Amino acid sequence: MCNNFNKKFLDEAAKALQDQDYDSVKNDDEHNQFMQEAIKLAIDGAQNNEGGPFGCIIVKDGEIIGKGNNKVTSTNDPTAHAEIIAIRDACKNLDSFQLEDCTIYTSCEPCPMCLGAIYWARPDKVYFASNKTDAANVGFDDAFIYKEIDLDYNKRSIKFEQNSRNEALKAFKLWEEKEDKTKY
Ligand SMILES: [Zn+2]
Repeated sequence: MCNNFNKKFLDEAAKALQDQDYDSVKNDDEHNQFMQEAIKLAIDGAQNNEGGPFGCIIVKDGEIIGKGNNKVTSTNDPTAHAEIIAIRDACKNLDSFQLEDCTIYTSCEPCPMCLGAIYWARPDKVYFASNKTDAANVGFDDAFIYKEIDLDYNKRSIKFEQNSRNEALKAFKLWEEKEDKTKY
């Protein structure tokens, strides 16, 4: 009786473990596939001279809902990074300013601008392939900008100086008192 119970318990545990393994393998495959898509965008975009070698896709419920590759040089837009373009595409398709329950796959660890955009968009998770040091190794400024964030305003390579704070606070006062605002 006792042995039977133990056997049943062990069989169930083994099956649960198997199922779990199967799920994690399946998930890994899915994540790898989505990342392959992001990397393909990076390679194709760079080969077509659209911009730097960066690609990004955004997934919700197993479907790709947004795509982007770097288009800085072809559109004269320094903000046209893969993640920014993909976030705009996904938000347009979702008709929302939030990426709720979405996952971002980006071919490289996001730069500070894109990191900020990702935080504003609030997806669930970000997968990245190469990292900011890899990007620095081929001449992209990501690591340098990350370091600038911590510096005092007057120590940054682009100087920052405050001006007209009291005037600007009028906009915040208006916002604070506005009753029909859409919060985000
Ligand atoms: Zn970026």
